[in-house]
Amino acid sequence: MEVDYRRAVARVLEAVAPCVGAGKVADYIPELATVDPRQFGFAVATTDGQVHCAGDADTRFSMQSISKVFTLALVLYRDGETIWRRVGREPSGSPFNSLIQLELERGIPRNPYINPGAIVVTDQLLADGGDGFATLHRLLRTETGNPDLDVDDVVAASEAGAGHRNRALAHLMAGFGNMVNPVDDALEHYFRQCSVAITCRELAHAGLLLARHGIRADGTRLLARSDVRHLIALMMTCGTYDAAGEFAYRVGLPCKSGVGGGILAIVPDHCAVAAWGPGLDDHGNSVSATAALAAFADITGHSVF
Ligand code: GLU
Repeated sequence: MEVDYRRAVARVLEAVAPCVGAGKVADYIPELATVDPRQFGFAVATTDGQVHCAGDADTRFSMQSISKVFTLALVLYRDGETIWRRVGREPSGSPFNSLIQLELERGIPRNPYINPGAIVVTDQLLADGGDGFATLHRLLRTETGNPDLDVDDVVAASEAGAGHRNRALAHLMAGFGNMVNPVDDALEHYFRQCSVAITCRELAHAGLLLARHGIRADGTRLLARSDVRHLIALMMTCGTYDAAGEFAYRVGLPCKSGVGGGILAIVPDHCAVAAWGPGLDDHGNSVSATAALAAFADITGHSVF
């Protein structure tokens, strides 16, 4: 399928205009509440080397849960399948920071993209490498092409200050024997990974790792093809909070969203797409980024269905 991406991106920008500024900026992390909701960025990076951007594609935003895809990639690379003893692979049907399900299911989170699941993955990365965040940081710097990519320390401090639920989740898991490192150590790495400040252009570049089935920007293989298949299957089923069904219906692509308002979508063999708008819907997904990805799927015909 030959797609004119330049034209598609321009049409997405037109289609999304009525939604820009809609939704509610996340405020449970106080620093995120200060972001201007009237911004919107969009970027497509293709496996054949094209990059097309629109709107605020070079403005930094908080990566938040989108980082969870990359920590899981690193853990699969290092440990293979053993992580699945500590975390499941099913949609949760509960809020991403729910304690109730975790208690009922004896400290085994439903999937690696809800908060407790991601904390377990970060804990594993830390146990494996001695410095979980540094490993992620190196990967993101090379795959985004930005050697200066960094954490927003103000957001990280804000997350840590407001991180009561994440602490509760991690301690509950520790109570069930599902934490390897001291809770505070694992959480420090988790808060830092969520606070990486990234642009749509950079995120689309990093997403190519998945669109190319595990091949890094320098042409070497990081992940087995099967690992990438598993990672993006989980994006499809668990990557957009409690709206994975709605995303499959409207977008039809594996996506991972974050409460910073970003969403990464993967079109295997073709491209990675990053959309960002800070206003969120009731599920925690960006209103404008969701609309943009739905328009992109309609315009390009890219869909796994
Ligand atoms: N850092 C956020 C938290 O732990 C991530 C949530 C998200 O983006 O889904 O609550």
